[in-house]
Amino acid sequence: MGERAVRNTAPAVHTFEGEGFEVRRAFPTPRAEAPDPFLLLDHHGPKDLGPGEARGAPDHPHRGFETVTYILEGEAEHKDSAGNHGLLASGDVQWMTAGAGVVHSEMPSARIRRDGGRLQFLQLWVNLPAADKMVPPRYQDVRAEEIPVAEAAPGVRARVVAGRAFGVEGPAQTHSPFQYVRLTLDAGARVALPARDAQEAFAYVMEGAADVGPRPHHVVDGTLVRFSPPREGATETSDVVLAAPAERGADLIVVSGRPLREPVARYGPFVMNTRAEIVQAVEDYQAGRMGRIGV
Ligand code: MN
Repeated sequence: MGERAVRNTAPAVHTFEGEGFEVRRAFPTPRAEAPDPFLLLDHHGPKDLGPGEARGAPDHPHRGFETVTYILEGEAEHKDSAGNHGLLASGDVQWMTAGAGVVHSEMPSARIRRDGGRLQFLQLWVNLPAADKMVPPRYQDVRAEEIPVAEAAPGVRARVVAGRAFGVEGPAQTHSPFQYVRLTLDAGARVALPARDAQEAFAYVMEGAADVGPRPHHVVDGTLVRFSPPREGATETSDVVLAAPAERGADLIVVSGRPLREPVARYGPFVMNTRAEIVQAVEDYQAGRMGRIGV
């Protein structure tokens, strides 16, 4: 099996979201456009918050894509216009299909807002195929203990959120072929993860550092690594190879997915295929047709 080359690396860009919490945005940025079918990747923290300091993203709408939130440390609370309400703890993943539209709120837990605490999470936006953009909204709350952990190599733990890797299958159901794996490497450990040549593939380092690819690119936390462009119709897989330096470990994700190759019309929290569909989404939201969050 061949080894997947690195196309480029790019540092995430600091920006603010919601009520004003800081994130590192891996893409889209001036240095890194979003790799189809992905739309956005944000990384918050790790941050130690004092009492009353935590900020979230109160009621806001989405239509036409999915948000995948991985709580790495701390707790988050969500509510939505379909009446769902839940608490996500450290290690939990929420796979939210906005589809035809939801209004939801994403906040640090009441406890963290009141007492402070440590918070770290990732949020990935995944585009939906045109045919699925108006599906009914759906939440998949995946608990940490439901995510299989494989010993991928000596000193490497792989948590498989979606897709298949290292002999285990992730619990999340997806709308297109997909692999989402979190890799935690001890210092000096090395791992090879097979990824389909027909799919876009990227890695993002949350903590530590890694040497990535055949002509190793040394990357540190807050860096996006994009692998070589997908080859349409290819049936082969190649290894994505990552190694932690001798003196420190690494916590990172590797995600791959089949490009949709469809037009993208994007306006804030709405991602559709045409400008007319965006206008319709704004009208539907303003008219209350995506619902509202009850009290
Ligand atoms: Mn949201």
